[in-house]
This record gives sequence, structure tokens and C-alpha cells, in this order.
Amino acid sequence: MPPLKEPMLDKKLLAILVCPLCKGPLYYDQGAAELICYPDALAFPIRDGIPVMLDTEARTLSPEEKANRKG
Ligand SMILES: [Zn+2]
Repeated sequence: MPPLKEPMLDKKLLAILVCPLCKGPLYYDQGAAELICYPDALAFPIRDGIPVMLDTEARTLSPEEKANRKG
């Protein structure tokens, strides 16, 4: 059996997702399976294809990650 790939996040779902804190747009990092809000420097995890939009679950971006902003 081939290894399971991280499921692609539904594009329609992604389009309606905003940051729960600032209501701003999110950047989808497919490699890291995270949704990133650069203004808040938070990365929200995507678990089993489901975005976890809780600031308590979010990871804080390092200054380096902020500097290397994508998207
Ligand atoms: Zn935000």
C-alpha cells in the first residue's frame, strides 16, 4: 500500500476561511498543512483535512517565518 498523502484542503472551504482573530485572509501552506495568518503571526493546524481554527491550537510563527512570508 502506498503511504497516505495529506488530503488536499477543499478550495471552496479555503475560500471562506478567515482568521478567527482578525477576520483576515489566511495563507494555506500545503507542505506544513497549516493555515497561516501573517498579521497575527499564527499558524492554524489542519488535521485530517479539517482546519482547526482555534487560537488555543495555533502555533506562533517565528520571526524568521514571518520574514519569509509566502503568499
Ligand atoms: Zn489574524
